[in-house]
Amino acid sequence: MQDLDRKRQSEIYMVGEMIALYCQKNHGGKELCPQCADLLDYARQRVERCPFMETKTFCSNCKVHCYKPEMREKIREVMRFSGPRMILYHPIMAIRHVIETQKEKQKIKNGVEKR
Ligand SMILES: [Zn+2]
Repeated sequence: MQDLDRKRQSEIYMVGEMIALYCQKNHGGKELCPQCADLLDYARQRVERCPFMETKTFCSNCKVHCYKPEMREKIREVMRFSGPRMILYHPIMAIRHVIETQKEKQKIKNGVEKR
């Protein structure tokens, strides 16, 4: 598997975990409710079609917000809820996410970001 594919996979996985956690705690069921399943589907499509995957780390850091407003609102809510909780459920992944986010910010600050 190529790096880029791996990146896409891990982004999708991360989003999936966050949506699952959010749905479980807010909508009750063991399985994703139709609304959250839709959101996950949408998020997955965005990641698969993202032309910036090569240069960016995660969608949450991306300056190009490709989500349509309605979906962006939903995903933001999910991130707000699940983001801080990921450290409990997936500590290694969450820490890596924080580190990558810091690196990304540093890169942007230094202006060496590729376009
Ligand atoms: Zn739900």
